[in-house]
Amino acid sequence: MRIRRLPPELINQIAAGEVVERPASVLKELLENSLDAGCTRIEVEVEQGGVRLIRVRDDGGGIAREDLAAALSSHSTSKIASFDDLVHVASLGFRGEALPSIASVSRLTLTSRTAGEASGWRLAGDGRETPCVPEPAAHPPGTTVEVRDLFYNTPARRKFLKSERTEFAHLDEALRRIALARADVALTLSHNGRALLRLPAASERSGEERRIAELCGADFIAQALHLDQQAAGLRLRGWVGLPTASRAQADAQYFFVNGRAVRDRLVAHAVRQAYQDVLFHGRHPAFVLFLALDPALVDVNAHPAKHEVRFREARLVHDFLFRTLHEVLATTRPGSAATAPL
Ligand code: ADP
Ligand code: MG
Repeated sequence: MRIRRLPPELINQIAAGEVVERPASVLKELLENSLDAGCTRIEVEVEQGGVRLIRVRDDGGGIAREDLAAALSSHSTSKIASFDDLVHVASLGFRGEALPSIASVSRLTLTSRTAGEASGWRLAGDGRETPCVPEPAAHPPGTTVEVRDLFYNTPARRKFLKSERTEFAHLDEALRRIALARADVALTLSHNGRALLRLPAASERSGEERRIAELCGADFIAQALHLDQQAAGLRLRGWVGLPTASRAQADAQYFFVNGRAVRDRLVAHAVRQAYQDVLFHGRHPAFVLFLALDPALVDVNAHPAKHEVRFREARLVHDFLFRTLHEVLATTRPGSAATAPL
């Protein structure tokens, strides 16, 4: 067979294989876009576990009429322009692939209005590189992305979807992670027309704790220690569950790096070590922790869905996490003072 270039629709469908695994991955990408747009509130409506509909509406900066088509074409982003920008990237997105990928495996419409525009504009993505022209549409400043019938045109992928209940559970988890990371943004969620979550924006610690109680259970926060420490340009803040609040499963572990939920072996190892002396074997700690550091010291371009990161100074990060957590947990050890040596 001769070598030839793939058609753009197929390129996007292949790219979609990397970022769009299921409705939850669509929701994650849309929520991240809303946050990157600087919104203060997000409304999420879902039908049939997200397979039939995912609608995300925000009050962020919006997309200008002349940029709507670009938002749906591949490798197009407003977030970086050079390799240097990539190294310092502070936004959640930067690949410019989410919307075109999602549009290639669903029926997607994008409706948006910037603060400077008198009305909104709507564009339907049809999976092609050249979408139609935008039509006027009533919309307050901000953006609504509607994703219908996920995988309708890729039956092989659709077959991998689980029951409505399972898909919804994944969606719910994706939303929870974002809701924990950004307590300052108001969030609502409805499923099949039923309102399930209504989280007001919280600016203070008490409000953040109310949100965590709502998302992780009131007993988690009641049995957690708050910490906020800095050293060597690193800041760790959040809540660690007391050993008495440990669980049989590792299901309440949230770790964010610069606002991004990550699963990381180095982080997991540091946390496990810190808890080693205070937890029984086979028990898992619960925690919600936020690590902040200079974006140039962490590579977020290690995984298409960005679940993983690479720290440039892995040892430094590991030791800082271990030491900080160990110190805080030492106060919980029976008979030992808060000043227990490391
Ligand atoms: P990325 O987030 O990596 O830039 P996406 O495909 O997710 O790529 O989005 C493409 C572009 O569309 C973004 O760079 C942004 O300019 C614009 N965009 C997407 N969603 C929104 C939104 N909710 N509000 C404002 N702009 C958006
Ligand atoms: Mg994005």
